[in-house]
Amino acid sequence: MDRTDVDVLVVGSGPAGSVAARYAAESGASVMMIERRPEVGVPVRCGEFMPSNEEIGLMFPGVQDLGSLFDIPESQICLHTDGIKLVDPKERVTVLDLKGYTVDRDRFDQYLADAAVSAGAALVRKCSFYGIENGEARTNQGNIRYKVLVGADGPGSKVAQSLGLPRNHNPYPAVTSQVKGDFDPYLVMFFGDIAPGAYSWIIPKDGRANVGVGFSPKRTKNATVGEYMDRFVEKHGFEECSRLKGKYVPSEGPIARTVAGNGLVVGDAAGQVISVNGGGIPLAMIAGRMAGRTAAEASAGKCGLDRYEGEWRAVMEKPLKTAAFNKKLADTFAFRSETSTTLCMRLLGQRRLGNLIRCKRIFP
Ligand SMILES: Cc1cc2nc3c(=O)[nH]c(=O)nc-3n(C[C@H](O)[C@H](O)[C@H](O)COP(=O)(O)OP(=O)(O)OC[C@H]3O[C@@H](n4cnc5c(N)ncnc54)[C@H](O)[C@@H]3O)c2cc1C
Repeated sequence: MDRTDVDVLVVGSGPAGSVAARYAAESGASVMMIERRPEVGVPVRCGEFMPSNEEIGLMFPGVQDLGSLFDIPESQICLHTDGIKLVDPKERVTVLDLKGYTVDRDRFDQYLADAAVSAGAALVRKCSFYGIENGEARTNQGNIRYKVLVGADGPGSKVAQSLGLPRNHNPYPAVTSQVKGDFDPYLVMFFGDIAPGAYSWIIPKDGRANVGVGFSPKRTKNATVGEYMDRFVEKHGFEECSRLKGKYVPSEGPIARTVAGNGLVVGDAAGQVISVNGGGIPLAMIAGRMAGRTAAEASAGKCGLDRYEGEWRAVMEKPLKTAAFNKKLADTFAFRSETSTTLCMRLLGQRRLGNLIRCKRIFP
């Protein structure tokens, strides 16, 4: 490691970390981003779906200058998708016109990390954050001094823990695999015993698809996520072409505080995930930009880190709390059995299911 003294230290090179590092560097701070993995974005543990910019704007109308943040080059896009198909346990399909696109998360994360490096951030791989010691970050490559610490280290954030911030409660396990074949340009979500308390999915790419399963640990019947995935693969006769990869997804919305002292957390580390569908990439990027800019200015003494907390909550808190509330309704009324799931999905119908997916109120 060349430098051990920086304005802004970012832990984690997922979308939240890379975007934060980029905007902190563009705002004039000296930035180091550390990543425990040898290669950014590898292995992929994600469904790799992104809603269109128009949909992100509808879900989070307060986002400023959305176009420049999500100016994703066509070369990064595997497939443009026309909508989402929701399949109830009796296999009745509801089609939503929510457009989006799919990416290869390894290439996508590397693209975002390259943008951070081009902006001047130093990227150090194979560097694990262990904790805070006398105001410095303790890592396997030695201690690093910083003015502001940004925790973008995912759902089980060590940075959040070290800063004394709350943890994500009740994260859901989810696994994914790449399979071969030609699939319709629709994201397909399957509900019922195939994925208790959540859903299994087919997310189409070019001549491939990302398939996976997530579930609520409280609702599983003594089976592991791998066993659920085996059933899903067997049911659809997928030709698996990659090993199974898994991770946890925050399921209860944002944590109560995301700033403490001279540190903050962002992305999955902050629970900035849509509870009803597990989507978190756009949120990690939106909050990452706010985190990076504020961290840089705070390191120069121009503002406090509380500005970040205020900014992201102004844009995301209401939709994320609505999504978390809708998820609780689903847990209480829909996910009790296959019959109740079917009944609730039919009662809600296409318009309300569309609202549910888009973080909007489903009643009145
Ligand atoms: C199976 C699955 C499918 C998903 N599908 C979708 C989807 O289709 N669309 C969508 O929008 N969202 C999806 N998500 C959610 C999405 O992946 C996350 O919300 C998103 O990756 C959050 O980005 P992040 O940068 O906050 O965290 P991450 O992408 O998790 O990045 C955290 C980084 O920090 C590094 N790190 C962790 N601890 C340390 C440490 N101590 N020291 C150094 N580095 C560390 C990690 O190695 C990692 O690179 C899915 C999640 C899962 C698990």
